[in-house]
Amino acid sequence: AAMRQARIERTKTVCTYCGVGCSFEVWTKDRQILRIQPTSQAPVNGISTCIKGKFGWDFVNSEERLTKPLIRQGDRFVEATWEEALTLIASRLKEIKDMHGPNSIGYISSSKCSNEENYVFQKFARAVMGSNNVDNCSRYCQSPATAGLMRTVGIGGDSGTIRDIAAAELVMVVGANPAESHPVLATRVKRAHKLHGQKLIVVDLRKHELGRRADVFLRPKPGTDLIWVSAVTKYILDQGWEDREFLNGRVNGVREYEASLDKYTLAYAEEKTGLSQNELIRIATMIHEAQSVCILWAMGVTQHMGATDTSTAISNLLLMTGNYGRPGTGAYPLRGHNNVQGACDFGTMPAWFPGYEAVQDEKIRAKYEKAWGVSLPPDPGYNNHQMIEGIHKGELKAMYLFGEEMALVDSNANHVHEAFNKLDFFVVQDIFFTKTAQFADVVLPAAPSLEKDGTFVNTERRIQRFYKVFEPLGDSRPDWMIIQDVANRLGAGWNYTHPSEIMAEAASLAVVFAGVSYERLDNWNSLVWPVLENGQDTPLLFTEKFGFPDGKAKLIPVDWTPPFEPGPEYDLHLNNGRLLEHFHEGNMTYRSKGITKKVPSEWLEVSPELARERGISSGARVRLMSPYGQVEVRVEVTDRVWGNELYLTMNSPDVDSAVNMLTSSYHDRITHTPAYKEMNVKMEVLEPK
Ligand code: SF4
Repeated sequence: AAMRQARIERTKTVCTYCGVGCSFEVWTKDRQILRIQPTSQAPVNGISTCIKGKFGWDFVNSEERLTKPLIRQGDRFVEATWEEALTLIASRLKEIKDMHGPNSIGYISSSKCSNEENYVFQKFARAVMGSNNVDNCSRYCQSPATAGLMRTVGIGGDSGTIRDIAAAELVMVVGANPAESHPVLATRVKRAHKLHGQKLIVVDLRKHELGRRADVFLRPKPGTDLIWVSAVTKYILDQGWEDREFLNGRVNGVREYEASLDKYTLAYAEEKTGLSQNELIRIATMIHEAQSVCILWAMGVTQHMGATDTSTAISNLLLMTGNYGRPGTGAYPLRGHNNVQGACDFGTMPAWFPGYEAVQDEKIRAKYEKAWGVSLPPDPGYNNHQMIEGIHKGELKAMYLFGEEMALVDSNANHVHEAFNKLDFFVVQDIFFTKTAQFADVVLPAAPSLEKDGTFVNTERRIQRFYKVFEPLGDSRPDWMIIQDVANRLGAGWNYTHPSEIMAEAASLAVVFAGVSYERLDNWNSLVWPVLENGQDTPLLFTEKFGFPDGKAKLIPVDWTPPFEPGPEYDLHLNNGRLLEHFHEGNMTYRSKGITKKVPSEWLEVSPELARERGISSGARVRLMSPYGQVEVRVEVTDRVWGNELYLTMNSPDVDSAVNMLTSSYHDRITHTPAYKEMNVKMEVLEPK
């Protein structure tokens, strides 16, 4: 027994799934994962995990892992050496850049990969290839929240930490399902609500677990959040309940904003949102009576055409009531992937260098030009959406993508697939042969987090270290090494030998990471950015200043954008989102035995009344059709949804049942985040069961 014991390794890691950022020890023997052991030292989760963090790791040893580079030959892929694959990539990228210019290539980074990998990728796009055409999957989720916060409070991240959410007197959850999407965060809210008298308001189309627990649950008409949020704000103002001292001392634009609220009367809101005036007054009163309010939101708000404006309206409400800068207050757009926050923070965005320093700002650009020894493009590049449209227009000829299942997760999948087919050259780097890889010319085998060192940033802006547990499987390699090799073949001359050197470079350049270092992040230590040079971090933002030069916040008037509706024959509204057990397209969780055994596939939720009307029951199979495509799915009848409201889990491993076969290319006007939640469909019964 003693000998057996000696061979067990314990290594700290950070969860590879959601943005809560749980950390724990992985106990291993050779390549076998014996257990996931949470510990009280973990800053976010302590001894908690959810099913994904606890059981979702088998994929690392899956037989389906990519272990060799692949090169397309006609309709098939053949194994190649790294030398062959890298030589081909460098020569094709150079050819295309020389022939069509630097902006003819697009770069998609990964929110599952580390900060250091995202940093080197944006550096590769900008400094080596001369383009700002670099983006990440925050474009599919929280970009509108970031934009709404940037224009009101000047910093796009969560205002405080999960501790602040737990400490709030009132938590309002809008268009989010934390019990499934951010489970450990949700347990904090459940505990505070049950044991400490925290009040909970949930506003959603679907009565999910937190909805059932809430003191007030409201179900507005789809796409009308801006209206009820603004009407509640106006009612608060009409009652004289606004925080006048806070507004006078800390906020600009108050008078113009107050005047802009005129149209948001309770009667108007009732008509447009379907919420009664009494319900709206009740929310306003609860906000007024609470000493501290946090508002949490996610894709139910941000995946709409008016999403940046709705996020702005939420921030306006918090400003009007003085709910920023104190413990237990603030705005919490909940981040989806484990490192979607970090991908943005470390600069894989078309308009931002790391730390949200603008590429258009001459002084900032000069700083990076000096550090990197090159001249840099002055204008923002294409985002994900513009890249797909750019391919269709013939402007974008090649793409380099890593760790992102864009063929399944971008909206209007047929349109995306047609674009991929038009590319002259496509590099996909991943741990599996994904649906996206099927369109590639070269596929490179990458290593998951357990096979490399690095850091992630969770939804709280908390930077945490993860450590290598295993060597990369087969010939697979960490993404940062692959990107460095491609860069060096194109003349970069980089020589990073460890991710800590990449972090040191990022910290020397981006002001908000000034005091970040691997020494300070050792083991269970973490830092919440902004981090001063002396290592002092900032768990709670805005205690003294907002993120603008004069230190004051801004109230921004906003208008409602009605949701897209394809026509009367599409008579059912289709909502979509996560489920607890699987993560996104499921490339990792469907390869984890325990999880797949429990939940083998996705499903469509149908209300009891609609099921009766259409003569179907749980287990039925139906076809859903939109103007953009169709899917066939299994039905579950549940009172989580009402009337003509459908809910399709987005975790489909299969193109034929993926929700994005149905969604459109309509998007938020400001950030181009797809309006995934604005879709009406018709339903045909295939098997009533
Ligand atoms: Fe991982 Fe999120 Fe679950 Fe924590 S709550 S274990 S970070 S999936």
